[in-house]
Amino acid sequence: MPRPRLTVLSGPSGVGKSTVVAELRRSHPEVWLSVSVTTRKPRPGEQHGVEYFFAGNDEFDGLVASGELLEWAEFAGNRYGTPRGPVLEKLAAGVPTLLEIDLQGARQVRTTMPDALLVFLAPPSWEELERRLRGRGTEPPDVIARRLEMGRVELAAEKEFDLTIVNTSVKDVCHRLITLMGNSPS
Ligand code: 5GP
Repeated sequence: MPRPRLTVLSGPSGVGKSTVVAELRRSHPEVWLSVSVTTRKPRPGEQHGVEYFFAGNDEFDGLVASGELLEWAEFAGNRYGTPRGPVLEKLAAGVPTLLEIDLQGARQVRTTMPDALLVFLAPPSWEELERRLRGRGTEPPDVIARRLEMGRVELAAEKEFDLTIVNTSVKDVCHRLITLMGNSPS
């Protein structure tokens, strides 16, 4: 049986990674999506063990100290990490496995799992990302300026990835991802 390659989906904040993952979860149950641990509080509708495992700071510290996370990063004041054990188990069992993580995490996976396929999800244009980062326009100008600056830096990370998928339509992105994962070398 061919051993599937670990696939990592990353990209700038606001590009639509979580929408893609929600659609994959719905339409492609054969793909295993890693469930991250986070110290952020659940948003309405989020369930423990589905979108995330919600943990306290001490619990997260323990996971880091015992080496149970494949990678972890701090993002906007909260910590996020990928439990190592389940990822290795799924890959060993031949299950196509996808991580949806931020750019810092993707860089760590590049180092620790050099065989992983790193996919950059890009916005159709800077204007589109800018529109999304500005959000509803309710944030103060300094916060918006910080988000825009971060967005420019994050877009420049594209060259570190194996390939780019432009997020023109969620369904197309899912299709490309599934095709890529199906064609992974053994
Ligand atoms: P959110 O709080 O909006 O769900 O996620 C914020 C950011 O954290 C997103 O960019 C998401 O990709 C990233 N993220 C989610 N899980 C992980 C993880 O396990 N590791 C890393 N490095 N980033 C993660």
